[in-house]
Amino acid sequence: MGKDTGFLEHDRKVGNYKPIDERIKNYDDIYIPLNEDEIKTQSSRCMDCGVPFCNYSCPVGNIIPDFNDLIYNNQWKKALDVLHTTNNFPEFTGKVCPAPCESGCVLGINKPPVTIKQMELAIVEKGWSEGWIKPQPPAVKTNVKIAIVGSGPSGLAAAQQLARVGHWVTVFERADEIGGLLRYGIPDFKLPKEMVENRVKQMKEEGVVFKTNANVGFNVDIQELKSSFDIILLTGGSTEPRDLSVSGRELDGIHFAMDFLPLQNKKVAGKTVDNEITAKDKNVVVIGGGDTGSDCVGTSVRQGAKNVVQLELLPMPSLERNDSCPWPTYPMILRTSTSQEEAAKVYDGDPRQYSIATKSFSGENGKVKKLHCVKLDWKKGENGRMMMEEVEGSEFTLDADLVLFAMGFLHPEHHGMLDDLGVEYDQRGNIATDETFMTSIEGIFSAGDMRRGQSLVVHAISEGRSAAKYIDEYVMGKTYLRSVL
Ligand SMILES: Cc1cc2nc3c(=O)[nH]c(=O)nc-3n(C[C@H](O)[C@H](O)[C@H](O)COP(=O)(O)OP(=O)(O)OC[C@H]3O[C@@H](n4cnc5c(N)ncnc54)[C@H](O)[C@@H]3O)c2cc1C
Ligand code: SF4
Repeated sequence: MGKDTGFLEHDRKVGNYKPIDERIKNYDDIYIPLNEDEIKTQSSRCMDCGVPFCNYSCPVGNIIPDFNDLIYNNQWKKALDVLHTTNNFPEFTGKVCPAPCESGCVLGINKPPVTIKQMELAIVEKGWSEGWIKPQPPAVKTNVKIAIVGSGPSGLAAAQQLARVGHWVTVFERADEIGGLLRYGIPDFKLPKEMVENRVKQMKEEGVVFKTNANVGFNVDIQELKSSFDIILLTGGSTEPRDLSVSGRELDGIHFAMDFLPLQNKKVAGKTVDNEITAKDKNVVVIGGGDTGSDCVGTSVRQGAKNVVQLELLPMPSLERNDSCPWPTYPMILRTSTSQEEAAKVYDGDPRQYSIATKSFSGENGKVKKLHCVKLDWKKGENGRMMMEEVEGSEFTLDADLVLFAMGFLHPEHHGMLDDLGVEYDQRGNIATDETFMTSIEGIFSAGDMRRGQSLVVHAISEGRSAAKYIDEYVMGKTYLRSVL
């Protein structure tokens, strides 16, 4: 514990964001971090609790009290080492993690919690700027060859862990760049892509081979992969989007979020895109209230939409914790994203509307023009589950030239690689594995959203690390790799 009275003396402080008028002019990172002195002060608020609930609340198990203490004592390099023992990519989580650790912080019971996420980002950013983060190639190589399919955070974490213990790792990625949703889902203003590039460079120097435009099951034969590699790890993500089968669905101008967002990330990267979908001068309606929907809002604002509305089927969450989500759980409370703040300022009002169902679309000349909606009333049913009912006479329409579906993902695509392999699925259609992350086929493992269902970057990293540990144990008989799961 750096300072035993820090939590009594200092208030919580987090970094700032650039002013809205300035930041919506481009896709640059919007975050202004705390300076080193501020970070040190914030680290002193950690109480080094006997039972560190923050540590247990973090899906990768970051050893938070230890790095807080090291920062307070100016031992940044040691803090970086501690952070890297549990998290391969703290800059990804430092940027986009919803920080369940902070919901579990003991100080958070009756005061604002310790600023943990910013601490994590500050440590790793200092690590990069000081040149402390170096490739760690293995001293000895094994003769085990491992193919990893999918280069999102789970595939990358597994690849780094497995390469560092000496295995020959090749990552196959169907996109033209490495990174999964870090690259072509999450916008640049939330996660600058140099962060991904720096790690790819580091991993290449650690011996990982990356193959892009390699769509396993299509232009890369899965049976050939099986015969050329000892182990296959499937980390292809959850990519089957939830659709809305209502009248007018076939009209032009209705797209899945993941048909829209990657195009902008490509443009920011200086690539040319075919079949551009743009929000410029359009009335945009985003259906879905989560991270993906929010990213569609921020991107539409930057593209110069005429107006942006974001619809959510569920009711508005409560403003504070209630009995259904007590400390130290991650509470379902109202959170306003930076993109929603931007839309509220630009269009003079909160873009979010809750308890709304879309009944149909109508259009002119084959193009969508209106959404036909109804308000919902949510009540607790007899079994205690929330039930929705349409409110009579509450039908209304919204102008819409561009509709973006951001209603989540059902499961991974089955057609192609997975059906050809013949892996078993769980009840939700994700890949079923045993507790060692092995699928129904000996020697084939799975991790990340492909196994767990759509989730978070921090869970994907955690899953990748765990899969690596079990794979290493499987091929070597024992392992020194560590993970939470
Ligand atoms: C728009 C959006 C915003 C998000 N924002 C956040 C956020 O702010 N914070 C957060 O924590 N989480 C966020 N998430 C969720 C997070 O990005 C995912 O949970 C995480 O990326 C999952 O990692 P993964 O490695 O399992 O899969 P992915 O990141 O989905 O990567 C899978 C990769 O596998 C490739 N692939 C699939 N099949 C094949 C094949 N047959 N051959 C070769 N390659 C293949 C895909 O092209 C893809 O690159 C967001 C998700 C979306 C869609
Ligand atoms: S990875 Fe997420 S949960 Fe873990 S310490 Fe960082 S912000 Fe908190």
